[in-house]
Amino acid sequence: MSKLTKAEEEAQKNETVLRTTELDPKFKYEISKLPGAEKVNVCFQCGTCTADCPIARFDDFYRPRKLIRMTQLGLKERLLSDDVIWLCSTCFTCIDHCPQDVGIASIVRALRNLTVAHGHMPAGYVAQVSNILKTGYAYIISDMRLKKRQQKGLPPPPKANLKNIAKLFDITGFSKALEKVET
Ligand code: SF4
Ligand code: SF4
Repeated sequence: MSKLTKAEEEAQKNETVLRTTELDPKFKYEISKLPGAEKVNVCFQCGTCTADCPIARFDDFYRPRKLIRMTQLGLKERLLSDDVIWLCSTCFTCIDHCPQDVGIASIVRALRNLTVAHGHMPAGYVAQVSNILKTGYAYIISDMRLKKRQQKGLPPPPKANLKNIAKLFDITGFSKALEKVET
């Protein structure tokens, strides 16, 4: 591969330059085989999803339309190394409004699954997974909170069946995928 000039390096860092060597033409087919991502190739880039996405409203980088275009172009490495795909809140607003029924949230989920299969998951998610395995809850409920519940006459939160959670992790293949994740 030819060496990049300083200007090219800067442009690439800002994602303003595309090099043909970065494009994986098979990627859109790879993704479209994953459940929920079958319609990735029918997106015609109208931008409705981005206009209506609550995350795009508050984040300068998260643009669902752009994620779909990057997938169509085959920018696999950029997509799978970019933590921006973890910002989607799966609110499904884009799914309700897309004129092509593309199923963006499901495609983002497919991208995340692929990222995990490649051994990457943001630290915050790794911590949540570990909390779920230990307690059944994504966040550890502090003693202070439990005490406050008690003071207000509320019952303690239901106890999770940790055995079943572990079984679920195994059956879905998530436990195996987690073994590959670098922390
Ligand atoms: S709304 Fe649908 S067709 Fe329009 S850009 Fe988003 S995914 Fe593509
Ligand atoms: S599901 Fe994700 S991409 Fe779609 S509108 Fe909600 S936050 Fe945005």
